Amino acid sequence: MEKTAAKPGDYVEVHLTKLIYEGILLESPENEKGTVLLKLDSGYNIGFNKKDILKIVLMKKAREKEKGEFEVKKNPEKKNVAMIITGGTIASVLDTKTGGVHPLQKPEDFFRFYPELFEKVNVAKIEIPFMKSSEDMDFKDWQKIAKTTVELLNDNNIQGVIITHGTDTLHYTSSALSFFIKDLNKPVILTYSQRSIDRASSDANLNLQCSALAAISDIAEVSLVGHGTSNDDFCYSMPGTKVRKLHTSRRDAFKVVNDKPFAKIFPDKIERISEWKIRNKNKAKLDAKFEEKVALVKIYPGQNPDILDYYSKKGYKGIVLELTGLGHAPTKKSRNSWTLKLKEIQKKGIVVCATSQCIFGKVDPLVYSNGREILATGVIYLEDMLSETAFVKLGWVLGHEEWKKNKKIVKEKMLENIAGEFNKRLEE
Ligand code: ASP
Repeated sequence: MEKTAAKPGDYVEVHLTKLIYEGILLESPENEKGTVLLKLDSGYNIGFNKKDILKIVLMKKAREKEKGEFEVKKNPEKKNVAMIITGGTIASVLDTKTGGVHPLQKPEDFFRFYPELFEKVNVAKIEIPFMKSSEDMDFKDWQKIAKTTVELLNDNNIQGVIITHGTDTLHYTSSALSFFIKDLNKPVILTYSQRSIDRASSDANLNLQCSALAAISDIAEVSLVGHGTSNDDFCYSMPGTKVRKLHTSRRDAFKVVNDKPFAKIFPDKIERISEWKIRNKNKAKLDAKFEEKVALVKIYPGQNPDILDYYSKKGYKGIVLELTGLGHAPTKKSRNSWTLKLKEIQKKGIVVCATSQCIFGKVDPLVYSNGREILATGVIYLEDMLSETAFVKLGWVLGHEEWKKNKKIVKEKMLENIAGEFNKRLEE
């Protein structure tokens, strides 16, 4: 192998006899000095035997870490936004020793990687309630984010709030904020990246630039802003209760389900797609009560309903059942009918709601007799609501002691369109 100027962290081409691989050069482990490790754009690590490599061509040096404290510069001609950084890939860098991605040591370093953000707005306030991957979050984290967001929304100096977050459970958080914040007055934008910021193919920059524009727009909604396609051309602003992660790795991982995005957002312009609530003089309020004892259960063929005994014994107060098709579970002809058990647990006071595992479309229990049988047990069918949104909403509704006492009120609340979770105009 020819000598190379490339160092771990640099973007390189590895030339073999017939193939060329591109990626970030990683440090070779101590005991494997004969190996060259590369992080491919796909995220996978690949190892080569040094003997097989003709040459390593340096394509792009790794971003040098600037020395000293980083100062967030303010420009009086630009509007002020606030940022809440919570962790996830968007606040992570590649560890060239392991090839894994880990959170930034100093979250403020975030701004070194995204100077483009300051071309549009002043980041006047930065809050870092915690730094974690989104799969490690739960309702207590949603409550922390919501509380911080409400404080920032009621600061007259701030035009909008941008929250950066991991992708895995981002749509749960966007739902939670949609229910937890009442009388919303300004934009609340959640954004992410699928590739860490130091990767050549990072999607963070476009997402942040579009988020900045959305945060100073008049879209007073909780929305998720992210890539509209797998190219780096535009983002969508998507309603917080109607969005879902639908791809494990693509930049445009999030899609609106059963509804439309609010807008198409380019780094320098916003194109309206549907209606949104506009910026106003309300005072945002926090209503973040949550009943922890709620579960989301997916039905599969032949599933035994005894699983419901577990939830009942453990003191669960509510269950969202993700049913098959239009809203079915094993009934009459099944060896494991759910009908009796559903009746039994609802009699004990557990609230049971139903969504569809189809993702697109809405549940309709009246089409088949099996659906009618489940409906007759008292299950609340949630139309076109996403299962994740239904789970968050049920926890939020049952978190209100004054509603929880009365099954009728719980049902009314679950079927009331509180934060855009139902789309009454859904076409067939
Ligand atoms: N597992 C990570 C998370 O959800 C992935 C990401 O950040 O995109 O935090």
